[in-house]
Amino acid sequence: MQNKFNRGMEDYCFIFEGSKLLVKKMNGQTNIPVNGDLENMNINLAHSRYFGDLKGSACYSIDKPTDFTPSVNLFFTDLRELACIFDEKLFHLACRGLHLLRWFENNRHCSKCGTLAEDKQDEVAKICPKCGFINYPRISPAIIVAVINKDKLLLAHNSRFVEKRYSVIAGFVEPGETFEECVVREVKEEVGIEVKSIKYFSSQPWPFPDSVMIGFTAEYAGGEIKEDGIEILDAGWYGADELPMTPSGGSVAGKLIKWFVENYPQNKE
Ligand SMILES: [Zn+2]
Repeated sequence: MQNKFNRGMEDYCFIFEGSKLLVKKMNGQTNIPVNGDLENMNINLAHSRYFGDLKGSACYSIDKPTDFTPSVNLFFTDLRELACIFDEKLFHLACRGLHLLRWFENNRHCSKCGTLAEDKQDEVAKICPKCGFINYPRISPAIIVAVINKDKLLLAHNSRFVEKRYSVIAGFVEPGETFEECVVREVKEEVGIEVKSIKYFSSQPWPFPDSVMIGFTAEYAGGEIKEDGIEILDAGWYGADELPMTPSGGSVAGKLIKWFVENYPQNKE
């Protein structure tokens, strides 16, 4: 993937501050600013990186320069919140921009011999000019699963969650493991129960910092809930009309919970 140097006024600029993205809010619409929006704003796009195309224009990502102050209509917004605002295609493109920006920043040197690595010209990777080692962007798969018991959903409060938020069970895939094996292991480790009938639901890039979330549904198969006490502090079965505070709709977690509410309504008597 070559860096393009002829940046046009209509090219999109994905400017990140941590995992916040600069967006342009106008007439009720939230969009990515183009080069033309950033004129006279003290931003040197020479250091930006090309990572894809959108509506026929090139997309560049760059970290917010320290002396950069956005003008009116431009706001930094957490990319996670934009999952509910952008359409899927744009959200995934922004995820790609953030993921690659962070990966290139953290992988300047060959991880084998320490030599300054070069961008590989024919694919998204770094290549070492000394030992030839090729380093591809790291993507860390994580499963996320909605476990159903009759008409109830398993929800857990993770120690990392702010306030009293509850969500479905999630965890990173380990080397040598299938996604389904990971579902079984994570549920067992975190809340002590067995699951069966594991079915694929959907997936989503989640570059915080480098994941892809693979969503599943599963059925309760046995055991009593016993929280691990480290990652999971509280867990239980919840009906659709008695849900605690849960993630919003844009994430796979939010989509799984929405799917549960739509498919397992309460008050069936
Ligand atoms: Zn090397």
